[in-house]
Amino acid sequence: MSGTCGELVHNRRMIRAGGVIDAAGRAAAPGVVLLEGERVLAAGPPESVGAVEDAQVEDWKGFLVMPGLVNAHAHLDLSGDGVWPPAGTDFRGWVGRVRSLRASMNAQSRRAAVERGIELALAGGTSCIGDIGGHPPDVSIHLLRASPLRGVSFVEVFGLGARQGAAVERMRAVLDEFGSEVNGVRVGLSPHAPYSCGPRVFAAAAQFGVPLMTHLVETLAEVEVCRSGTGPLREMLEHDIGVWDRSVEVPGEHPVDALLEPLGRGRFLCAHVNWIEPRHVQMLADSGVRVVYCPRASAAFGHAPPELAEHPWRILHEAGVNVCLGTDSLLCLETPDRLSVLDDMRLLFRRDGVDARLLLAMATTHGAAALDLDPTVATLGTEAAGVIACPARGVCAEAMLADVLRRDDGPQRLCRSAQ
Ligand SMILES: [Zn+2]
Repeated sequence: MSGTCGELVHNRRMIRAGGVIDAAGRAAAPGVVLLEGERVLAAGPPESVGAVEDAQVEDWKGFLVMPGLVNAHAHLDLSGDGVWPPAGTDFRGWVGRVRSLRASMNAQSRRAAVERGIELALAGGTSCIGDIGGHPPDVSIHLLRASPLRGVSFVEVFGLGARQGAAVERMRAVLDEFGSEVNGVRVGLSPHAPYSCGPRVFAAAAQFGVPLMTHLVETLAEVEVCRSGTGPLREMLEHDIGVWDRSVEVPGEHPVDALLEPLGRGRFLCAHVNWIEPRHVQMLADSGVRVVYCPRASAAFGHAPPELAEHPWRILHEAGVNVCLGTDSLLCLETPDRLSVLDDMRLLFRRDGVDARLLLAMATTHGAAALDLDPTVATLGTEAAGVIACPARGVCAEAMLADVLRRDDGPQRLCRSAQ
């Protein structure tokens, strides 16, 4: 930065924290982070950073400093004011209510909803996001690119039966219009789900070479409609939305079996994955797909896995799948003032006793890799996309991390995105 007289002015801040930790092996208590503007110059134990004469020293003794978080599955456009339907076990009814509310929004309220979503994500300590943009997608793309957030704005497409060709053309047009990265945000594609997009849509998406996301086996009804063409999702597609006609071919098998090839070839990021069978674990691991688990959303919708003793995320992780965390939309969450995977880490830590270090990796480096970002953007290295601080006590950085997960405080942002 240049001063008014042309001299060099360093905007250096020495953050003296109770501790620092990231998923790349940094862990120190006390810990120090040296920032220059929005950029991390160094992080670690005080002796590794040393004295820096021209840095402004800040005391963050009661805080644990961590990288900004990665929320790999969000719907920022569902963050608007107003009475939104709460999540529940009636998925068809819930989708119907969300669709009619969305249809009632105008350009101004859509824009306001995405802006609020971005504010809530930033309030949650998010530095990178995988957002499923609303319709039309340009609102989400432009607002995300104008924000400090990095990541991917996924444009959602739908297309069953005879409508698959139009969906493929739409994907092509979207990439022609928004193809290149701007301000740290790429545009990706999201064939919505196996029950709302036919196999040609998934196969075409896999060829574009851009980040891809889909909702995969979120509900048991999805398994039913793919296997037999029956059930509440068939009713919804045929009667509520009017897109099920004679041109729709029923796959006749579980969605993972029907779509594994294009999902793997496109290295799709698969959201939810609530209802797989044990034999699918190794198949998914071998395919190269990534999984984003949204624990609070799964709990809010009452989704539980069959046969497996718990949600399959852990066994997928142990089989080698990159599993990261997402919030899904604000409609599924009990935190109206922030949108943060920190609260999903807390649920898994408290409810399931998941290791705090693994949760930190899922909420940072795993998420970055799943969004095709360099994982170092989600560490305290010099490429960090953001730095946050959480109130915490403890004798070491790991104990402080566990303390963060026992508390309910929101994170504070120390720096945002250094492009
Ligand atoms: Zn979703």
